[in-house]
Amino acid sequence: MKRLCDLTVLCLLLGLPGEAAGQGQWEQPALGDSASGNPEVLFTFDDGPHEGYTPIILDTLKRHGVQAIFFMAGWRISKQSTYLEARRAIARRVLGDGHVIGNHTVNHARLCTISKSRAEWEIDEGRRLLAELVGAAIPYFRTPYGSRCARLEEMLAKRGIRHLHWDMDPREYLHHDSDATRRYLVRKLSKLTGRAVILMHDTQVTTTRVLPFVLDWIAAENVRRRAAGTPQIRILSYADVAREQLAPGLEQAASSAMRAISVQALGLMDRLLAPLVAHPPPRTSQVTAF
Ligand SMILES: [Zn+2]
Repeated sequence: MKRLCDLTVLCLLLGLPGEAAGQGQWEQPALGDSASGNPEVLFTFDDGPHEGYTPIILDTLKRHGVQAIFFMAGWRISKQSTYLEARRAIARRVLGDGHVIGNHTVNHARLCTISKSRAEWEIDEGRRLLAELVGAAIPYFRTPYGSRCARLEEMLAKRGIRHLHWDMDPREYLHHDSDATRRYLVRKLSKLTGRAVILMHDTQVTTTRVLPFVLDWIAAENVRRRAAGTPQIRILSYADVAREQLAPGLEQAASSAMRAISVQALGLMDRLLAPLVAHPPPRTSQVTAF
Protein backbone atom coordinates (compact mmCIF):
# COMPACT_ATOMS: atom_id res chain seq x y z
CA MET A 1 0.00 0.00 0.00
CA LYS A 2 1.00 3.62 -0.39
CA ARG A 3 2.72 4.89 2.71
CA LEU A 4 1.14 8.22 3.42
CA CYS A 5 4.02 9.83 5.26
CA ASP A 6 6.03 9.50 2.09
CA LEU A 7 3.83 12.39 0.96
CA THR A 8 5.69 15.57 1.62
CA VAL A 9 2.65 17.72 2.43
CA LEU A 10 1.37 15.40 5.11
CA CYS A 11 4.80 14.92 6.63
CA LEU A 12 5.27 18.64 6.83
CA LEU A 13 1.84 19.20 8.32
CA LEU A 14 2.37 16.59 10.97
CA GLY A 15 6.03 17.40 11.58
CA LEU A 16 7.04 18.05 15.11
CA PRO A 17 8.82 21.17 16.34
CA GLY A 18 12.35 21.38 17.60
CA GLU A 19 15.74 21.56 15.97
CA ALA A 20 18.78 19.57 16.84
CA ALA A 21 20.61 21.19 19.72
CA GLY A 22 23.47 18.77 20.03
CA GLN A 23 24.30 15.15 20.63
CA GLY A 24 22.94 12.86 23.27
CA GLN A 25 19.95 14.71 24.65
CA TRP A 26 16.79 15.74 22.87
CA GLU A 27 15.24 19.12 23.57
CA GLN A 28 12.85 19.60 26.44
CA PRO A 29 10.09 20.49 26.75
CA ALA A 30 9.60 17.94 24.00
CA LEU A 31 6.68 19.78 22.43
CA GLY A 32 7.73 23.32 23.17
CA ASP A 33 5.80 25.83 25.18
CA SER A 34 2.19 25.63 26.29
CA ALA A 35 -0.14 27.10 23.67
CA SER A 36 -2.97 27.75 26.10
CA GLY A 37 -0.80 29.22 28.83
CA ASN A 38 -2.08 26.49 31.14
CA PRO A 39 -0.24 23.34 32.14
CA GLU A 40 -0.60 20.87 29.26
CA VAL A 41 0.18 17.15 29.03
CA LEU A 42 0.28 14.61 26.24
CA PHE A 43 0.16 10.92 27.16
CA THR A 44 2.37 8.52 25.20
CA PHE A 45 2.73 4.74 25.60
CA ASP A 46 5.73 2.83 24.27
CA ASP A 47 6.75 -0.71 23.34
CA GLY A 48 3.32 -2.30 22.74
CA PRO A 49 0.90 -3.46 21.66
CA HIS A 50 0.56 -5.88 24.55
CA GLU A 51 -2.15 -8.51 24.37
CA GLY A 52 -3.14 -8.08 28.03
CA TYR A 53 -2.29 -4.54 29.11
CA THR A 54 -2.92 -2.36 26.07
CA PRO A 55 -6.69 -3.09 26.01
CA ILE A 56 -6.93 -2.14 29.70
CA ILE A 57 -5.16 1.14 28.96
CA LEU A 58 -7.45 1.77 25.99
CA ASP A 59 -10.50 1.22 28.21
CA THR A 60 -9.15 3.69 30.76
CA LEU A 61 -8.41 6.32 28.13
CA LYS A 62 -11.86 5.90 26.64
CA ARG A 63 -13.54 6.37 30.03
CA HIS A 64 -11.70 9.66 30.40
CA GLY A 65 -12.03 10.78 26.79
CA VAL A 66 -8.25 11.02 26.40
CA GLN A 67 -6.37 10.54 23.13
CA ALA A 68 -2.76 9.37 23.25
CA ILE A 69 0.10 8.30 21.02
CA PHE A 70 1.23 4.67 21.09
CA PHE A 71 4.79 4.06 19.89
CA MET A 72 4.76 0.44 18.80
CA ALA A 73 7.54 -2.06 18.17
CA GLY A 74 7.07 -3.75 14.81
CA TRP A 75 8.11 -7.20 16.02
CA ARG A 76 5.02 -7.35 18.19
CA ILE A 77 2.72 -7.25 15.21
CA SER A 78 4.87 -9.33 12.86
CA LYS A 79 6.69 -12.06 14.79
CA GLN A 80 4.85 -15.35 14.87
CA SER A 81 3.56 -16.06 18.36
CA THR A 82 0.46 -17.17 20.22
CA TYR A 83 -0.48 -13.52 20.62
CA LEU A 84 0.21 -12.28 17.11
CA GLU A 85 -3.39 -11.95 15.96
CA ALA A 86 -4.46 -10.45 19.29
CA ARG A 87 -1.72 -7.84 19.05
CA ARG A 88 -2.60 -7.00 15.48
CA ALA A 89 -6.25 -6.56 16.43
CA ILE A 90 -5.26 -4.32 19.33
CA ALA A 91 -3.13 -2.15 17.07
CA ARG A 92 -6.15 -1.65 14.82
CA ARG A 93 -8.27 -0.84 17.86
CA VAL A 94 -5.77 1.81 18.96
CA LEU A 95 -6.39 3.67 15.73
CA GLY A 96 -10.12 2.92 15.80
CA ASP A 97 -10.35 4.43 19.29
CA GLY A 98 -8.97 7.69 17.93
CA HIS A 99 -5.38 7.43 19.10
CA VAL A 100 -2.29 7.74 16.95
CA ILE A 101 0.29 5.03 16.31
CA GLY A 102 3.96 5.93 16.19
CA ASN A 103 6.95 3.95 14.95
CA HIS A 104 9.31 2.65 17.65
CA THR A 105 11.42 0.53 15.22
CA VAL A 106 10.99 -3.20 14.61
CA ASN A 107 13.18 -4.62 17.37
CA HIS A 108 13.44 -1.72 19.82
CA ALA A 109 16.85 -1.12 18.33
CA ARG A 110 19.73 1.00 19.57
CA LEU A 111 19.88 3.11 16.45
CA CYS A 112 23.15 4.85 17.25
CA THR A 113 25.18 1.69 17.84
CA ILE A 114 23.97 -0.84 15.28
CA SER A 115 25.17 -0.60 11.67
CA LYS A 116 23.83 2.21 9.51
CA SER A 117 22.07 -0.14 7.11
CA ARG A 118 20.49 -2.04 9.98
CA ALA A 119 19.36 1.19 11.65
CA GLU A 120 17.76 2.37 8.41
CA TRP A 121 15.99 -0.96 8.07
CA GLU A 122 14.67 -0.70 11.65
CA ILE A 123 13.15 2.70 10.92
CA ASP A 124 11.74 1.90 7.48
CA GLU A 125 10.50 -1.59 8.22
CA GLY A 126 8.94 -0.51 11.51
CA ARG A 127 6.97 2.15 9.71
CA ARG A 128 6.04 -0.19 6.87
CA LEU A 129 4.78 -2.95 9.16
CA LEU A 130 2.58 -0.61 11.15
CA ALA A 131 1.25 1.28 8.14
CA GLU A 132 0.42 -1.92 6.30
CA LEU A 133 -1.36 -3.42 9.28
CA VAL A 134 -3.58 -0.49 10.14
CA GLY A 135 -3.92 1.02 6.65
CA ALA A 136 -2.88 4.40 7.95
CA ALA A 137 0.04 6.76 7.94
CA ILE A 138 2.52 6.51 10.78
CA PRO A 139 3.46 10.15 11.23
CA TYR A 140 5.23 9.96 14.57
CA PHE A 141 8.51 8.35 15.52
CA ARG A 142 10.27 7.78 18.80
CA THR A 143 13.78 6.41 18.96
CA PRO A 144 14.17 3.59 21.51
CA TYR A 145 16.08 4.55 24.67
CA GLY A 146 15.86 8.18 23.55
CA SER A 147 19.05 7.62 21.54
CA ARG A 148 20.43 10.60 19.70
CA CYS A 149 23.44 10.94 17.41
CA ALA A 150 24.30 12.80 14.22
CA ARG A 151 23.86 9.69 12.10
CA LEU A 152 20.35 9.10 13.40
CA GLU A 153 19.39 12.73 12.93
CA GLU A 154 20.52 12.50 9.31
CA MET A 155 18.43 9.38 8.77
CA LEU A 156 15.35 11.00 10.23
CA ALA A 157 15.86 14.25 8.31
CA LYS A 158 16.26 12.33 5.05
CA ARG A 159 12.87 10.73 5.65
CA GLY A 160 11.07 13.84 6.88
CA ILE A 161 10.64 12.25 10.31
CA ARG A 162 11.18 13.83 13.69
CA HIS A 163 11.62 12.10 17.01
CA LEU A 164 9.05 12.92 19.66
CA HIS A 165 10.81 12.92 23.01
CA TRP A 166 9.31 13.09 26.50
CA ASP A 167 9.49 15.22 29.65
CA MET A 168 8.12 12.98 32.40
CA ASP A 169 9.49 9.45 32.76
CA PRO A 170 8.30 7.65 35.90
CA ARG A 171 10.48 4.65 34.97
CA GLU A 172 7.75 2.22 35.87
CA TYR A 173 9.34 -0.25 33.46
CA LEU A 174 12.41 -0.40 35.73
CA HIS A 175 11.04 -0.45 39.27
CA HIS A 176 7.49 -1.75 38.68
CA ASP A 177 6.40 0.20 41.74
CA SER A 178 2.87 1.61 41.39
CA ASP A 179 3.16 3.89 44.41
CA ALA A 180 6.45 5.37 43.24
CA THR A 181 4.98 5.91 39.78
CA ARG A 182 1.92 7.67 41.22
CA ARG A 183 4.03 9.86 43.49
CA TYR A 184 6.36 10.86 40.66
CA LEU A 185 3.55 11.83 38.30
CA VAL A 186 1.48 13.69 40.90
CA ARG A 187 4.56 15.59 42.07
CA LYS A 188 5.48 16.57 38.53
CA LEU A 189 1.93 17.40 37.47
CA SER A 190 1.33 19.47 40.61
CA LYS A 191 4.27 21.71 39.73
CA LEU A 192 3.81 21.76 35.96
CA THR A 193 3.49 25.24 34.51
CA GLY A 194 4.19 24.58 30.81
CA ARG A 195 3.81 21.59 28.53
CA ALA A 196 4.96 18.04 29.15
CA VAL A 197 4.95 14.75 27.28
CA ILE A 198 4.44 11.79 29.61
CA LEU A 199 6.24 8.54 28.80
CA MET A 200 4.69 5.31 30.02
CA HIS A 201 4.68 1.74 28.71
CA ASP A 202 1.63 -0.28 27.73
CA THR A 203 3.68 -3.43 28.23
CA GLN A 204 3.70 -2.91 32.00
CA VAL A 205 1.03 -3.94 34.46
CA THR A 206 2.14 -0.98 36.60
CA THR A 207 0.92 1.37 33.89
CA THR A 208 -2.53 -0.22 33.87
CA ARG A 209 -2.75 0.35 37.64
CA VAL A 210 -1.42 3.89 37.72
CA LEU A 211 -3.11 5.43 34.68
CA PRO A 212 -6.67 5.43 36.14
CA PHE A 213 -5.33 7.03 39.31
CA VAL A 214 -3.48 9.75 37.42
CA LEU A 215 -6.45 10.60 35.18
CA ASP A 216 -8.77 10.68 38.21
CA TRP A 217 -6.24 12.87 40.01
CA ILE A 218 -6.11 15.35 37.11
CA ALA A 219 -9.91 15.50 36.99
CA ALA A 220 -10.16 16.12 40.73
CA GLU A 221 -7.28 18.59 40.65
CA ASN A 222 -9.00 20.55 37.90
CA VAL A 223 -12.17 20.75 40.00
CA ARG A 224 -10.07 22.20 42.81
CA ARG A 225 -8.27 24.59 40.48
CA ARG A 226 -11.51 25.74 38.87
CA ALA A 227 -12.91 26.55 42.28
CA ALA A 228 -9.73 28.36 43.20
CA GLY A 229 -9.53 30.19 39.87
CA THR A 230 -6.06 28.79 39.12
CA PRO A 231 -4.85 27.34 35.78
CA GLN A 232 -6.18 23.87 35.10
CA ILE A 233 -4.28 20.97 33.55
CA ARG A 234 -5.16 20.50 29.91
CA ILE A 235 -4.73 17.04 28.35
CA LEU A 236 -3.55 17.39 24.76
CA SER A 237 -4.38 15.11 21.85
CA TYR A 238 -2.35 14.52 18.65
CA ALA A 239 -4.92 16.73 16.88
CA ASP A 240 -4.07 19.63 19.17
CA VAL A 241 -0.40 19.19 18.30
CA ALA A 242 -1.04 18.84 14.56
CA ARG A 243 -3.29 21.91 14.59
CA GLU A 244 -0.47 24.00 15.97
CA GLN A 245 1.70 23.00 13.04
CA LEU A 246 -0.77 24.40 10.53
CA ALA A 247 0.17 27.91 9.56
CA PRO A 248 -2.80 30.18 8.78
CA GLY A 249 -4.30 29.25 5.41
CA LEU A 250 -2.70 25.83 5.28
CA GLU A 251 -5.92 24.11 6.30
CA GLN A 252 -7.16 24.56 2.74
CA ALA A 253 -3.95 23.13 1.33
CA ALA A 254 -4.28 20.19 3.65
CA SER A 255 -7.84 19.63 2.52
CA SER A 256 -6.82 19.74 -1.15
CA ALA A 257 -3.97 17.34 -0.55
CA MET A 258 -6.35 14.96 1.16
CA ARG A 259 -8.57 14.79 -1.88
CA ALA A 260 -5.72 14.13 -4.26
CA ILE A 261 -4.84 10.87 -2.63
CA SER A 262 -6.32 7.38 -2.90
CA VAL A 263 -9.69 6.41 -1.45
CA GLN A 264 -8.06 4.49 1.35
CA ALA A 265 -5.86 7.42 2.14
CA LEU A 266 -8.84 9.71 2.23
CA GLY A 267 -10.41 7.81 5.09
CA LEU A 268 -7.28 8.11 7.13
CA MET A 269 -6.49 11.73 6.38
CA ASP A 270 -10.04 12.82 6.95
CA ARG A 271 -9.82 11.25 10.37
CA LEU A 272 -6.53 12.98 11.03
CA LEU A 273 -7.25 16.40 9.65
CA ALA A 274 -11.02 16.89 9.52
CA PRO A 275 -11.10 18.35 13.03
CA LEU A 276 -8.50 20.85 11.93
CA VAL A 277 -10.51 21.90 8.92
CA ALA A 278 -13.84 21.96 10.76
CA HIS A 279 -12.47 23.85 13.73
CA PRO A 280 -9.91 26.48 12.82
CA PRO A 281 -7.13 26.86 15.36
CA PRO A 282 -8.19 29.08 18.25
CA ARG A 283 -6.16 32.11 19.15
CA THR A 284 -4.17 31.49 22.27
CA SER A 285 -6.31 33.91 24.19
CA GLN A 286 -9.47 32.03 23.17
CA VAL A 287 -8.36 28.64 24.40
CA THR A 288 -10.67 27.42 27.12
CA ALA A 289 -9.00 25.47 29.86
CA PHE A 290 -10.48 22.14 30.82
ZN1 LIG B 1 10.80 1.75 24.14
